[in-house]
Amino acid sequence: MFSEFSSSILLISLVAGALACFATFGFVASLYRASPDRYGKLLAVYSMLVGLGLFSIHFINMRAFNYNYINELSYLYLLIAYGFATSVGFAVLHSANKQTLPIYSLILSGIQAGFSGYGIFIFFTKAMLGDQYEILLLPSMLAIAIAVGVGILSIITIYWLKSYDGAHRYSVRAFFSILISIGILSTHLAFSTCLGSVSSFETDSSVLNSSFITMLFAMVLIFVFLTAFIVVVFYDKLNPNIVKRINFKNTTSTSNPLDSFDPLTKLPNRNALNQHLQLAAKRCDRLGDSMAVAYIDLDHFKPVNDTFGHHVGDLLLIEVAERFNSAIRNCDYIARAGGDEFVAILGEIDAHESIVAVVQRMIDAVKEPFFIEGHLIEISCSVGVAIYPRDGNLEKLKVSADAAMYKAKENGRNQYRFYDAEIEQASDEMQKIRKELLDAIENEQFTLHFQPKIIAKTQAPAGAEALLRWNHPSKGLLTPIYFIEAAERFGFIDKINNWVLAEACRTIHVAQNNGIQLSLSVNLSRQQFRNAQLVDHIKSVMETYQVPPQSLIFEISETHAIHNQSQFKKLLSKFKFAHLKVSIDDFGLHPFSLTYLQNLEVSEVKLDKSFTSGVAKYGSALAIVDAVVKLAHALNLTVVAEGVESEEQRLALLTTGCDQMQGYYFSKPVPEEQLFAIYNKLNTHFNNTGEFSINDYLNLEPYSEQTY
Ligand code: C2E
Ligand code: MG
Ligand code: MG
Repeated sequence: MFSEFSSSILLISLVAGALACFATFGFVASLYRASPDRYGKLLAVYSMLVGLGLFSIHFINMRAFNYNYINELSYLYLLIAYGFATSVGFAVLHSANKQTLPIYSLILSGIQAGFSGYGIFIFFTKAMLGDQYEILLLPSMLAIAIAVGVGILSIITIYWLKSYDGAHRYSVRAFFSILISIGILSTHLAFSTCLGSVSSFETDSSVLNSSFITMLFAMVLIFVFLTAFIVVVFYDKLNPNIVKRINFKNTTSTSNPLDSFDPLTKLPNRNALNQHLQLAAKRCDRLGDSMAVAYIDLDHFKPVNDTFGHHVGDLLLIEVAERFNSAIRNCDYIARAGGDEFVAILGEIDAHESIVAVVQRMIDAVKEPFFIEGHLIEISCSVGVAIYPRDGNLEKLKVSADAAMYKAKENGRNQYRFYDAEIEQASDEMQKIRKELLDAIENEQFTLHFQPKIIAKTQAPAGAEALLRWNHPSKGLLTPIYFIEAAERFGFIDKINNWVLAEACRTIHVAQNNGIQLSLSVNLSRQQFRNAQLVDHIKSVMETYQVPPQSLIFEISETHAIHNQSQFKKLLSKFKFAHLKVSIDDFGLHPFSLTYLQNLEVSEVKLDKSFTSGVAKYGSALAIVDAVVKLAHALNLTVVAEGVESEEQRLALLTTGCDQMQGYYFSKPVPEEQLFAIYNKLNTHFNNTGEFSINDYLNLEPYSEQTY
């Protein structure tokens, strides 16, 4: 009947089978993440696709044998064969996708797959060979048993690979694809032994022989399949790191891929993440299962951007994303939440250790040095982990994981931290501040106080520094130290900064209307550095309040400037172009402050309080201030001494030639009306005597700021 077959066509069939299996792994991953309402539809589509694959493989296999094909193909039988192929797809996909795989369900699906496989063959035979052959019962039973066995093994393989946590992901996937393909081929060979020639057609004495050989061949293939499977699984159990993870994660189920993916790293974006989180939570609810949410933040990523430029920063993010992607298991999910933040959702967490293993792998993956465009870059990451539903509902979960991540950073970075009672307390506190800050923005509880700056030699007012205060309903007046960091962390800082700028401009405007030429210093937060529109925004606010450029100075802390040098220089040139003045705040805290200064186009430096406090006591402190003043003057910069608290300090500073002073000695920060009162008092004194008097500052009454 088929004394020989074409081995080259069989090879093609083997490759086609392996490719179809490879795709099937992807289908299972996609189904695993599908929402309950989409699951049914996706399962139908994927079953039909797998069916198509099987159908084609059987078609190729049929061609491989030298059968006596009939001239007229029966399309009806082919269609029925395709129906059976789809049924195999359904049995495999549906059971492999299950959260748990009970033995009865495995066997039932295996039987369905096996019988359906037999169905494919029978109807293919009818379609292509007509009535030339009869179906032999005994070989059929044996062949079906083989088919059921192959079906069960394939289901176990695919099910097992879904949450597989080893190494060499693509190789393992490819290896098992080939194994399953061998299984399919051997099943076909087993089926082919079920055909016996009908006596009306020519007889073939070699039928028995060839059937026997074919069946033997099929058995050998099955044996290879089985042995390889057992060896690999067993080997993997002995040495979990030997085989790498398989990666068909992140197959997103959202409808518009453009809305779901981060264009840089190609990972799912925040949108997709939220969507996936909800689905995963539903799934956990449905199955009474748990999942872990890991918030990952890169440590010291910003300096990379500043030192090597954004291009290198981008490339680094891409590589980090790739490393994360290969560090997680097949049943996990990773997304880029924005900037240098990633979020991983870990499913199938039967034990604490399974979470730790994945998280630690991600940390280790980032710790390895990166080589990007010739630069060696070393970074690390901090991870916070919260568990659903143990640590709260979805909304709370994000906050909890975030809080745990901050704790990991606080503890020294490059580590993970699980959400616990201690973090819960700190997190509750932060949430309270968050809510209060939102209220504060909503109800305009912020206010600006102004601390006068005076000209050292003449004691004339040089302007004032605008300092932000929060009029807290129960805690009283709070200074920025209490809330700026929280505002930055919760992303409220832009709103607050914009308010500060507008309020400062409004004050200048009101002062002008009261006949006072007021110059104000406004503090910029480090977040504002990154805002490309900052200068345009400042100009438009200034225009609204008709504030001339010389009435504003923008203070930038030296620490921020040093840590963001390239950004800072760009910003400085924009400020210069717009004729806006910039001052370096808290100057002198860094060892290289002086050398750094000569490269910057700023108009003022504000000596940090720590220098001022020592000038009256220590000759060395005075000598340093003296040197700084000389250098700054050589560079044409104005020097302001901050934190002047006594007459001794004032006198000592006077000897250095410093230009301006500011401190509690003259005035604490005061509200707008008091500032205007000071100006009016000084101006009146000046009009009477022709000089400004320090006593006018010292006798200031009645406001004395009480902050917390
Ligand atoms: P800064 O810019 O260095 O402001 C000077 C700080 O020193 C103010 O603290 C001021 O009250 C305090 N100070 C002034 N004179 C003396 C003195 O004689 N002795 C002592 N011990 N301290 C004195 P404040 O108001 O608590 O502000 C703290 C920091 O908060 C500021 O430091 C500034 O970096 C930031 N900040 C203030 N207002 C704003 C704002 O509107 N936006 C932003 N982003 N940051 C602000
Ligand atoms: Mg300042
Ligand atoms: Mg300062």
